[in-house]
Amino acid sequence: MDRESVQETRPTTRMLAADEALCRRAAGLLFCAPEPVILALEGEPVEVLLGMVRWCIEHEAPDFDPEKVLPAWAKKRGRGRWSDRPNQAARTIWGEVPATLHGCDGCGEKRRDVHEVGADSLTFFEGDLICEACAANHGVTI
Ligand SMILES: [Zn+2]
Repeated sequence: MDRESVQETRPTTRMLAADEALCRRAAGLLFCAPEPVILALEGEPVEVLLGMVRWCIEHEAPDFDPEKVLPAWAKKRGRGRWSDRPNQAARTIWGEVPATLHGCDGCGEKRRDVHEVGADSLTFFEGDLICEACAANHGVTI
């Protein structure tokens, strides 16, 4: 394999999706809790995560809080956990395709761990997708 073909196949930060581990590293750089960063940027292209981290670092206002700003940005722009479009990034930095997020029919949150409800539930319709927390809260066996 010559040098040129290696460069053609090398993924770019635009193709790679930020996984949870990378979001946690970014939170470390921003000296903030990882959860807001994961909510806002997991599944987004690495290029977007890097841009947002740089943007946060450049803000030196004392009341600037990445824990509030990043989720607010993601919510407003429909990114991260608030994204409705299928994930455009091809794979995470570890090479796996990110699992698709589905809205839970119980709490409405977008999650990976949703399960189909069977016919025996009195709370949900058969075929509804609910998360494990909602299943436990409503006594649904999944
Ligand atoms: Zn739920």
